[in-house]
Amino acid sequence: MSEQFDVIVIGAGPAGYPAAIRAAQNKLSVACIDGWKNHDGSYAFGGTCLNAGCIPSKALLESSELYHRAQHEFATHGIKVGEVKFDVAMMQARKNKIVKASTQGITGLFKSAGVTALVGTGKLLKSNAGMHQVEFTDKDGKQQILSARHVVLASGSVPTELKTLSFDGKDIVDSWGALEFDAVPKRLGVIGAGVIGLELGSVWKRLGAEVTVLEALDSFLPMTDQAVAAEAFKQFKKQGLDIKLGAKVSSASKGKTDVTLKYTDATGEQSIVVDKVVVAIGRRPNTHNLLAEGTGVDIDERGFVKVDAECRTAVTNVWAIGDVVRGPMLAHKGKEEGIVVADLIAGKHAEVNYKVIPSVIYTAPEIAWVGQTEQQVKASGRAYKIGTFPFMASGRARAMEAGTGFCKMISATNDDEILGVHIIGPMAGELIAEAVLAMEYSASTEDLQRTIHAHPTLSEALHEAALAADKIAIDFPNK
Ligand code: FAD
Ligand code: NAD
Repeated sequence: MSEQFDVIVIGAGPAGYPAAIRAAQNKLSVACIDGWKNHDGSYAFGGTCLNAGCIPSKALLESSELYHRAQHEFATHGIKVGEVKFDVAMMQARKNKIVKASTQGITGLFKSAGVTALVGTGKLLKSNAGMHQVEFTDKDGKQQILSARHVVLASGSVPTELKTLSFDGKDIVDSWGALEFDAVPKRLGVIGAGVIGLELGSVWKRLGAEVTVLEALDSFLPMTDQAVAAEAFKQFKKQGLDIKLGAKVSSASKGKTDVTLKYTDATGEQSIVVDKVVVAIGRRPNTHNLLAEGTGVDIDERGFVKVDAECRTAVTNVWAIGDVVRGPMLAHKGKEEGIVVADLIAGKHAEVNYKVIPSVIYTAPEIAWVGQTEQQVKASGRAYKIGTFPFMASGRARAMEAGTGFCKMISATNDDEILGVHIIGPMAGELIAEAVLAMEYSASTEDLQRTIHAHPTLSEALHEAALAADKIAIDFPNK
């Protein structure tokens, strides 16, 4: 193996692997190092997203949603199926197969792009004679010093632990553990009503667990538009997710087969007894063993690698991307940063448009948004108009038994700029792409009004919301 590269990427998650591939497409010599180890001892590329995040969670969300629909919706369609049963082992096996295909896919992509894929850990050392040095330790512990003109740090994030509730890998687990349960817990406690708490809480609720979600804040989904948050809270409660807001966990004690969680809320000290606990209170940047003394790379007070708007660290030609730097911890945000950095390294023009990053919560109904919430626009002082279209007025949604939720568009009054789009409803995660494209290319609300949307599709909800912003909607009366 060559010991010198144009670019070394540390981390092969959704930020690092696209950076490596794009750098290779830019005709640079590239090595990508990753030491991700699965619970069965195997090594795999793809990071949190492919191994323990986006992909396995969506596989289980799909299986559990199908089970739920077979139980509760088929009869409405006149489909009689008798008793509906599921097999957790088969669900898990299907999920594992999808994960394996996805992670092996990265190995294949590296091979065809000409990226040198290295299994093990990388540590940035002090630079030497203008070249950056990376200490590579392979999975057998053998060390080698590699050098490169550019180093991209893409080491991702790890789950935050509660001081009062250490992970034990069995009964008190992080999100990865909650993706690997081999049986449905009868009573599941989830700490944190954020994205992970709601997605994984939904999986196990649909499969029959009694799920209690303890959220420290008094508000629900504060990062979303509050009209969406209110609708989501109503729907999740209706589904039986017992979400307790303002619930601060103070201690946990493990019994032989259960865990007692003590928490305080507005009315005083409370406790619940559950069989398993998932702690989903956020993730923190992972810089463990990443930087040797004196590299000059700055870390901020929250542990993130400090970067500028172009992902440059304090050290020339050392870059950092993905969850290890500021901004939303989302796979597609990291991917875009990776591509942009690889293009900048190759001397091309590139930039990340941080204003137009979509977010999706893959519950049922799905929640998706891009741009500013109504609360943010109001606080900015800009005059705005709102168009809302409920899915119950959509023929396609009704045909799908999915008439819950709405699409809300917020636009500027003065120049018609689309400031934010917020959707709660069927396929919201797919629908939001149109809003992202519109905002990326500065389409106005009128541009969306004049764009023909196929009928009957869910995407008509965006069209109608744009019309509603000017009080000219056709399919739903607006005042
Ligand atoms: P990571 O994916 O964490 O990858 C970092 C990689 O770096 C790892 O493979 C690690 O082994 C490696 N590494 C670290 N240090 C070193 C070192 N010193 N040497 C070598 N290798 C190293 N985001 C979405 O956008 N959509 C979703 O649906 C979604 N679902 C999620 C569900 C769950 C349960 C979780 C936990 C997260 C989810 N996320 C989702 C978030 C998403 O997974 C992260 O934002 C994304 O993985 C970050 O990518 P990354 O490449 O920055 O880091
Ligand atoms: P999060 O930030 O979404 O939610 C954490 C929640 O825990 C918050 O509501 C917070 O108020 C609460 N909390 C914090 N401390 C608490 C405490 N002591 N007791 C009770 N509640 C507490 O974090 P997450 O759900 O752990 O997800 C981590 C990251 O992974 C997120 O940044 C998210 O972007 C990403 N992710 C994305 C997706 C997706 O895109 N669909 C899915 C899963 C995860």
